[in-house]
Amino acid sequence: MALKVETARGAMTGTRYIESLRDGREVWLDGDKVPDVTTHPAMTGMVHELARIYDLQHSEQYRDEMTFVSPETGKRCSLSWLLPRSHEDLKRQRRNSEIWNEESWGQLGRSPDILAPHIISLVAISDALGQVKHPKCDFGENIINYHRYCMENDLFLTHALGDPQVDRSQQPQNETRGDGETEVALHVIEETADGVIVHGAKQLATAAPISNETYVSLSATFMRRSDPRFILAFSIPTDTPGMKILCREPVSQWPGSYGHPLGAVYDEQDSMLFFDHVLVPWDRIFMLYDSAPLLQRLGSEANFRGWSNLCRIHQRMKLMTAVATLIAEAIGVIEYREVSAKLGEMAMHTEMWRHAMDGVEHNAFPADNGFMSLGSTSGMNIYFAQMSARMVELLREISGSGMIMQPSEADLANPEFRPYLDRYMPGRGVGVEYKSRLFRLAHDLAASSFGMRQEIYEYWHGGDPNRNRINLLRNYDQTDITERIKTLIAEPLRS
Ligand SMILES: Cc1cc2nc3c(=O)[nH]c(=O)nc-3n(C[C@H](O)[C@H](O)[C@H](O)COP(=O)(O)OP(=O)(O)OC[C@H]3O[C@@H](n4cnc5c(N)ncnc54)[C@H](O)[C@@H]3O)c2cc1C
Repeated sequence: MALKVETARGAMTGTRYIESLRDGREVWLDGDKVPDVTTHPAMTGMVHELARIYDLQHSEQYRDEMTFVSPETGKRCSLSWLLPRSHEDLKRQRRNSEIWNEESWGQLGRSPDILAPHIISLVAISDALGQVKHPKCDFGENIINYHRYCMENDLFLTHALGDPQVDRSQQPQNETRGDGETEVALHVIEETADGVIVHGAKQLATAAPISNETYVSLSATFMRRSDPRFILAFSIPTDTPGMKILCREPVSQWPGSYGHPLGAVYDEQDSMLFFDHVLVPWDRIFMLYDSAPLLQRLGSEANFRGWSNLCRIHQRMKLMTAVATLIAEAIGVIEYREVSAKLGEMAMHTEMWRHAMDGVEHNAFPADNGFMSLGSTSGMNIYFAQMSARMVELLREISGSGMIMQPSEADLANPEFRPYLDRYMPGRGVGVEYKSRLFRLAHDLAASSFGMRQEIYEYWHGGDPNRNRINLLRNYDQTDITERIKTLIAEPLRS
């Protein structure tokens, strides 16, 4: 078996993470092949920020809050990978995700604690995966081994679930879909003694250029397919031959300046993945030709999605509310009734989210397989897909034109020009430097290309919110109240 843990190295360190990315992966950006993602200006900020947080796992302050000792190897492993079996485990995992997200200001959609729960949720249905039989491997065993391998090496995963956005006019389960599908969507073209050869593309995978592995599967939209060759779930190292990664235009501009304090560091990159005759070894395949196990997971009450998304959203809302408050103070508008009410609305959304997270923790329950499931989050990600835009809107409304009209660091440093800035651009009780940097932080949250990418991410990352709303409605049991309403309207009103 290739996925050995005997030589595993435990919780990731910053140095090891940076080294792990220098492996010959094929990354393309703006027409060029990137020779080393760790030094490329579009990615180096993000790489070093993740490295910094990985090192916290080994610090006196955070070691016990971010890691646990593996019973199998005795090595410290990230709590992101712990198979939760008690309320206490879930609490520890929440704290771990809080640290990741506090440290990164709630800006990382693909922090390393995001994909670990995806893999854990597959481990939780390993029995069902194993029931789909294939002579070359046991899919249930594969996922258990893969989880151990990731946990003991603390690997950073991304995922790629969707078909390329070429022609959405037909559903994947349409039998007449025909050649167009084999032209673009990822599918098996051959089985060999070593594994399957896959060909096609995926749109898209956040952080793929700086990840260790990519988990490839199907989203709810694409899981039901008429052609079984398109049904597959697997994970491969980022340097796998034939996998080509195309980066979008970076939003990490102006590095080194105060101007883009978030964008300069937290541009995760989003990428198209092209698979050109890629070999996927048998022990890395979790589903093939039959999507029944994953469909079962979608319908399950058990929730192993983990804390990361929830903690990220909470941190992001806290940050936006606090920046809006500081801005209202800095330009002397905080006492205005309308402005205070808007700030109050931001605080309300932030507090509602925290209460919902507490409810998710409170409603945790032991699932059939002995793992501890979080309570339901059924409407939460849809809610935030809508609410994120409202938070951005409120921040913009409170900031006025100051969100865009601020001097740059070079303007501030110019002695000839500086007197004008000191005179005409300070705030109420604050100097021009403080005020302009604060406003440019707001700009990075709500107006810059980084801020806009974050907002697009929040809207789409959980899948099409319309699809999710419809699925929520279909599973939303209203029989209790609808029966009472029918009784109410069937009886004459009492006088
Ligand atoms: C910043 C960002 C990061 C992301 N990161 C990841 C990642 O790491 N991994 C990953 O797997 N995915 C990722 N995604 C993809 C995300 O899951 C998809 O964007 C989402 O599922 C929507 O799919 P789409 O973008 O292909 O839009 P489309 O499905 O093409 O939708 C385009 C429009 O058509 C409508 N539409 C499409 N189909 C139908 C239909 N059948 N009926 C009615 N209306 C329809 C949609 O509502 C929408 O208005 C990311 C997306 C973004 C924007």
